[in-house]
Amino acid sequence: MRGLLCSPLAGTAAANGVQSKVPILVFHRFAAAAIDSMTVRVARFQAQLKVLENLACNVIPLSDWVAWRRGERDSLPPRAVVLTADDGHRSQFEVMAPLLHACGWPVTLFVYPSAISNASYAMTWPQLRELLAEPGFAVQSHTYWHPNLLKERDRMSPDAFRRFAADQLQRSRDTLQQRLSRTVSLLAWPFGLSDEGLWAQAADRGYQAAFSLGNRSASRRDPIFAVPRHLIVDSVDERQLTDLLEAAFKSGDAS
Ligand SMILES: [Zn+2]
Repeated sequence: MRGLLCSPLAGTAAANGVQSKVPILVFHRFAAAAIDSMTVRVARFQAQLKVLENLACNVIPLSDWVAWRRGERDSLPPRAVVLTADDGHRSQFEVMAPLLHACGWPVTLFVYPSAISNASYAMTWPQLRELLAEPGFAVQSHTYWHPNLLKERDRMSPDAFRRFAADQLQRSRDTLQQRLSRTVSLLAWPFGLSDEGLWAQAADRGYQAAFSLGNRSASRRDPIFAVPRHLIVDSVDERQLTDLLEAAFKSGDAS
C-alpha cells in the first residue's frame, strides 16, 4: 500500500477565523472492496485523507473538542476536524491506524468490550494496547455489547430498562479502564440512538459527553450527550467531503 505524503501542517493553516461548527467524522470498516454499507475502500479512505491534507485541516483529538465544548479551553485551531471510528473492527488496526499514524493524526476509537478478543471481526486487547502506546490514539466506550437502546427501552419495563442501560454504560467503562489502564469518559451511542433519560444516565455513570450520528457538524448548541457526527461511508467522495468540511469552516466565530 502506498503511503500518503502527509506533511506536518498542524498550526500552519491560515487563520481565517475559528469555525463554530466542528466536523466530527465517524468511520467503521476498511477493505479492498466495499463489501458492505459501512466499509470504506482503502483507496477511497486514502483519497478522503488527502482531502483533509489538501484543505490544511487541523485534525484534533476528540478530547480537545470536548474540553472546548465544556469551557475548559478557550479556542480550537482553525479548520479543526475530529476523527473517530466505531465498533473496534480489525481493519481499524490493520488499515486505518498505519495511515493515520503516517499523518500524525489522532483518532478516538469507540469500542464495545464484549467483542474485543472475542468476535472474529474485532480487534484484540493486545492490539488496542498497541494502538494506545502510539501518540494520538484513544479508546472510549460504545456500551458493553452494542444494543439498540431504544428498542430495548420499548420492550422492557422502565425499571428494567434503567438497570439494563446502567449496566451497559458502567460495565463498558469499567472493563475498558481495567483492561487498558486509561480513563474512559466519552461514549458513542450504538446506532447513534439515545434519549434524554439515557443522557442523564450517562452523566450519572461518569461520562462527560456522548456522540451520535446526524450528518451535521458539531456545535456548542448540540446537547453534550447527543453530539452529531458525520457517518463516512464509501460513497463520500472528495467533492462531498470537501463540501461538508468547507461548510463547517465557514460557520463563523466559535467564541
Ligand atoms: Zn457501532
